[in-house]
Amino acid sequence: MSRLLGLINWTLRPDRDADAPETTHRFRCLTLKDDDTECGAEGKPVTDLKAAQDWTFAHLRENSGHTSFAEIVERPWVMWRGGRA
Ligand SMILES: [Zn+2]
Repeated sequence: MSRLLGLINWTLRPDRDADAPETTHRFRCLTLKDDDTECGAEGKPVTDLKAAQDWTFAHLRENSGHTSFAEIVERPWVMWRGGRA
């Protein structure tokens, strides 16, 4: 995605540089409790998707009926200065 800001054309792209932060995954429990509020428990952000998924099984083991989750992905992006438009 590119946009002109002033006279500079900026491009937003995923940051895949060697020193970029790693993409992380975590899951949040969407199950509604008896009072109709969301459980909201979250696993820790981890770089390994399987480890993130493992948290959902542990959460279900400790919370019977908590079977609905959202995955939250944090992926680094960076603005790249694309020169004068
Ligand atoms: Zn839950």
